[in-house]
Amino acid sequence: MIEIKDLHARVEGTEILKGLNLSIQPGEVHAIMGPNGAGKSTLSAVLTGREGYEVTSGSVTFEGEDLLEMDVEERARAGLLLGFQYPVEIPGVKNVYLLKAALNAKRKEQGLDEIEAPAFMKLIREKLKFMKMDNSFMHRAVNEGFSGGEKKRNEILQMLILEPKLALLDEIDSGLDIDAMKTVADGVNSLRTAERSILMITHYQRLLDYIVPDVIHVLVDGRIVKTGDKSLAFELEKKGYDWLLEGAA
Ligand code: ADP
Ligand code: MG
Ligand code: MG
Repeated sequence: MIEIKDLHARVEGTEILKGLNLSIQPGEVHAIMGPNGAGKSTLSAVLTGREGYEVTSGSVTFEGEDLLEMDVEERARAGLLLGFQYPVEIPGVKNVYLLKAALNAKRKEQGLDEIEAPAFMKLIREKLKFMKMDNSFMHRAVNEGFSGGEKKRNEILQMLILEPKLALLDEIDSGLDIDAMKTVADGVNSLRTAERSILMITHYQRLLDYIVPDVIHVLVDGRIVKTGDKSLAFELEKKGYDWLLEGAA
C-alpha cells in the first residue's frame, strides 16, 4: 500500500525526519509510537502534503505511484486520508455539506454518479448512530464549537463515509474519556478490511488495548528505531522510551 524509503524532511530549516523507512501492506494496521517531538506528526503532515514540510530526500510510493509528486487533493483522491483533514473550524459550512462534497469528489474519481440525497442521508444517519453522535451534528458548522471528543468522533465519521484506502490517524485518543475512546476504537475497528491499511500514531499504549495493531514501530529522533508485534507496546509501557533513546544515540 505504502512504501517509505529513507525519508528526510525539514520544517523551518530543521531536519525532523532523518531517514525513515516504513512499509505497510494492504489490510495491515500499523501503530507508530514514540516520545514527544520525535517527528510523528511531521510524518503525517509530510504524507498528506501539508505546506511547510520540505522533503529533502527519500521516496514515498503509494500503490506504486510517487506520492510526493501529488498535491494534497490528489493524495486524498488516491485514497490517503488523514483524520482531521479539516482540523480548522469552517464557520458557516455545515458538516453534512463538506462530507457530501468529499464523498462526491471521490465517487467522481471512481467514475460514479453523485450520491442521491436519500441514499446519502441514510448512510450518514447510520454512521452517526454507530459513532454515537446526534443527528444535529450534520447541521453544525465543521468543528465549530465541537469538544475535543466530538472532533475525534467526527474525524472517524469522515473515515467511515469516505472509506479511504489508507487511513492515517494522529493521536485520535488524546483528550478522550474512556467511553469516547471505545466508540472511536469501534469506529476504527469497523474500518478494518482485507484491503484497507491503517496507520495510527499514538503517544499512549492505552489505545492499543482497543485497536490491536499488526505491527508497532517506535519513532525516535526522526527514525524508526524498533519494529515489533503488539507485545512491543507492553514492553514500552513497562520500560518507557529511554532504553531506545540510548540505542538511537
Ligand atoms: P511528535 O508528533 O512526535 O510529538 P512533531 O512531528 O510534532 O513530533 O515534532 C517534531 C519536531 O519538529 C519538534 O521538535 C517540533 O518542535 C518540530 N516541529 C514540528 N512542526 C513544526 C513547525 N510547523 N514549525 C517548527 N517546528 C516544528
Ligand atoms: Mg507533538
Ligand atoms: Mg504529534
